[in-house]
Amino acid sequence: MSARSEFSLIQHYFEQLTPQREDVLLGIGDDCALLQCPADHVVAVSIDTLVEGIHFFPDVDSEKLGHKSLAVGLSDLAAMGAKPAWFTLALTLPEVNNNWLKGFSSGLAKLAKQHNIQLVGGDTTRGPLTISIQVHGFVESQKALQRSGAQVGDMIYVTGSLGDAGAALQLQLQQWDDENLDNEDRLYLSQRLEQPTPRLSVGQNLLGLANAAIDISDGLLADLGHIVEKSGVGARLDLAKLPISAALSKINRTTAQQFALQSGDDYELCFTVSPQHFAEIEKQFKGLCTRIGMITDDKGIYFIDDNDNLIELTGAGYDHFSG
Ligand code: ADP
Ligand code: MG
Repeated sequence: MSARSEFSLIQHYFEQLTPQREDVLLGIGDDCALLQCPADHVVAVSIDTLVEGIHFFPDVDSEKLGHKSLAVGLSDLAAMGAKPAWFTLALTLPEVNNNWLKGFSSGLAKLAKQHNIQLVGGDTTRGPLTISIQVHGFVESQKALQRSGAQVGDMIYVTGSLGDAGAALQLQLQQWDDENLDNEDRLYLSQRLEQPTPRLSVGQNLLGLANAAIDISDGLLADLGHIVEKSGVGARLDLAKLPISAALSKINRTTAQQFALQSGDDYELCFTVSPQHFAEIEKQFKGLCTRIGMITDDKGIYFIDDNDNLIELTGAGYDHFSG
């Protein structure tokens, strides 16, 4: 992009967009930003890229896209228990479309304000529409939640409900439908896909309570799979306990469970808690999270189905759902 149009675009849309924080010694406008990390904390860093046609539909509302682009990074910070501080934005645009930029920057700004995270720099280039956001947050040294901390005997919890975003995606792709879903349900599901809610306060409040955590971007089985693998343990899930939204409760139960286990993009948290902290969790996060199973010492993920059968979640287990 020509230096001039890049400069005015950044100035117009991005320079004053987000909260101005005191720990930003120098923000947008120089070769680097200069940032101050508080004493006794470390910086948690994560980057995500969204590519048009792969991670979002070309016709998606740009304000929602602005929200989601930042939400996925914030969800990574939440999973570590980190507090958001700064982000950078690499934007590749096919053209300067002011309407699009207005929506995108406003979706971004609203979520940034909500979590007091400041845009401190980025890069702007011309090409196929691609959005990369790198987020930075603080967490007390040695305190961050990691995938590797699960212990045998921990209870497994998840926030919110699972499977909504996956169902919305299938609806939008017209690969699946259910006549029991009314317009309100459909709206709810598409919001869950397009404007996920990163669980930052839950994540921060889990510090010192949870042994392991991850955010669910690829589906519960895949992401819980990362926890058990990194922790060298196994998991047993109680299918009847999977949190299903009111909307998905209207569809075929097996299909709803399948979405909850296997579909991604929900950006809920999955975490494990040792017995000494069960009571505290149930009290502090009442209504916010659900106990769905426990960590065991037999490697792999098993589940108890509706008939109280214990099934391993490999080949046959998956077949159980594909029927
Ligand atoms: P350089 O050529 O030194 O890389 P640029 O001309 O790319 O600098 O950027 C000028 C300033 O604008 C830098 O501070 C950079 O971080 C910021 N910037 C560029 N693009 C964006 C963007 N999409 N969002 C926020 N800041 C941006
Ligand atoms: Mg540059």
